[in-house]
Amino acid sequence: MLRENFKRIRAEIGQAAEKVQRSPDEVTLVAVTKAASAGQVKEAFEQGIRVFGANRVQEEAPKIAQVPGARWHFIGHLQTNKVRHVLPVYEMVQTLDRLSLASEMQRRAEKLDLKLKVLLQVNISGEKSKFGLAPWELGDFLQEIKTFNCLEPLGLMTMAPFTADPGEARPYFKKLRLLRDEHARPDRMLPHLSMGMSGDYTVAVEEGATIVRIGGALFGSDR
Ligand SMILES: *Cc1c(COP(=O)(O)O)cnc(C)c1O
Repeated sequence: MLRENFKRIRAEIGQAAEKVQRSPDEVTLVAVTKAASAGQVKEAFEQGIRVFGANRVQEEAPKIAQVPGARWHFIGHLQTNKVRHVLPVYEMVQTLDRLSLASEMQRRAEKLDLKLKVLLQVNISGEKSKFGLAPWELGDFLQEIKTFNCLEPLGLMTMAPFTADPGEARPYFKKLRLLRDEHARPDRMLPHLSMGMSGDYTVAVEEGATIVRIGGALFGSDR
């Protein structure tokens, strides 16, 4: 089943990219493992999926152990005291949303002498239930983390409100892209837009997503 799901998702990403004259190679599928078993994660790796997304540190550790060679992105709300578990296991944290977290990441990364790729999570919809910087906070925040030389800000991440109609997510994705365009600088291009999940990834690709985070549509929600 996973095999067919992967094939279908890849085809749909391809079609969505083609529709707007983008190359499907610009889009990375991050397989979100929160509802997947360690066995399913292993199977996904065997099918060729290389990048995985986790939103909890301890719970996902056994799955990470199953797939040596896989790349992991942290996509959940990250507590500052968990940063030490994230480094150096994860190559990217997609959910940087506050200065205290950035400081701790910088401190840990410096100690380990490594660079951590980060995306800035933005709360585009403004829903109270969602984490992330407000769009108008982004400029100052980017300025504030500039001195953190172990952090590599590579773009923005958002979650659209949950709706039955994926088309309703489009304005939020568009806003994230425009926000990125507004803040991109020659020395800080912010190339990545992580947006789109199982219900709306084709719309996200049409709006410029370079990373889609997909759980249910890949692993099946009935486990
Ligand atoms: C769970 C989750 C996803 C994947 O959601 P699906 O609807 O299962 O594809 C993507 N991003 C984040 C931040 C998540 O927590």
